[in-house]
Amino acid sequence: MMFIDPHIHMCSRTTYDYLVMREYGIVAVIEPAFWLGQPRTNAGTFKDYFSSLVGWERFRASQFGIQHYCTIGLNPKEANNEALAAEVIELLPLYACKEGVVAIGEIGYDDMTEAEDKYFCQQLALAKELDMLVLIHTPHRNKKAGASQSMDRCIEYGLDPSQVVIDHNNEETVEEVLGRGFWAAFTIYPQTKMGNARMVEVVRKYGCVSAAGRDNVRRIIVDSSADWGISDPLAVPKTAQLMLDRGIPEEHVRAVCYENALAAYSQTGQMKASDWLNPQSVDQRQMFSGNSVLRGQEPGIKSVSDYVLIE
Ligand SMILES: [Zn+2]
Repeated sequence: MMFIDPHIHMCSRTTYDYLVMREYGIVAVIEPAFWLGQPRTNAGTFKDYFSSLVGWERFRASQFGIQHYCTIGLNPKEANNEALAAEVIELLPLYACKEGVVAIGEIGYDDMTEAEDKYFCQQLALAKELDMLVLIHTPHRNKKAGASQSMDRCIEYGLDPSQVVIDHNNEETVEEVLGRGFWAAFTIYPQTKMGNARMVEVVRKYGCVSAAGRDNVRRIIVDSSADWGISDPLAVPKTAQLMLDRGIPEEHVRAVCYENALAAYSQTGQMKASDWLNPQSVDQRQMFSGNSVLRGQEPGIKSVSDYVLIE
């Protein structure tokens, strides 16, 4: 089975992860612009970060047979440094329309402060102006209220629910998100967010045509959100396996672990299945700004088994 991980922070992961992910069937990833942990001190660091999302990281993934896309945005947490946030907002239009950018994101709320709301709304207005999709990060605390308010704001700013992916859902938010017609993404992340066994039950429960006649399983998306925290870049294929083991129909597994992400994000025209079904040939001697992905190694590393023994 082929998989898409539509929310993973590869800049925090190693090249070895790309190798393993490809072996487990991940053909494409989406990397949302994110908070790096270390507070950033000036807008220039965002510029370099956004450049690496559309540049080096896209190249690095391609060298291991994975198609890389990204979303560009100011993370909710970072909206609280207002002087910096205002400068970053000015930068966004320069990156939002670059090749491989599939949405404005991840944006939304963290503590639901006034500053977060202000910069969230400004980014929704930008998405509307550029006719782009939006990826929403729902907060860890007050998730239900944060998700509701995020959806209200999207409608207020004229976005259609079909253009908005609400992420980090759980059992508390899923009904409202699906009921209002938004894409409902779930992050399989250890300890917080969603567990893979719980995810199986969500798909079992919503994997049917709802009373309103909506085919909910067609709007559920599974991702890993793997980042610099303790997290798993194989969360999507592992959850798919667990779904199959526990009797979820294969057609539903394929929908939530591959097809729905493609359907949602291909609306931009920036992402299409032919990107990985007819890939360009990979030569690891290729360079990006004068650098290859090799760190003194021989080109042609294709499989984890090439690394079983380090002689
Ligand atoms: Zn994220």
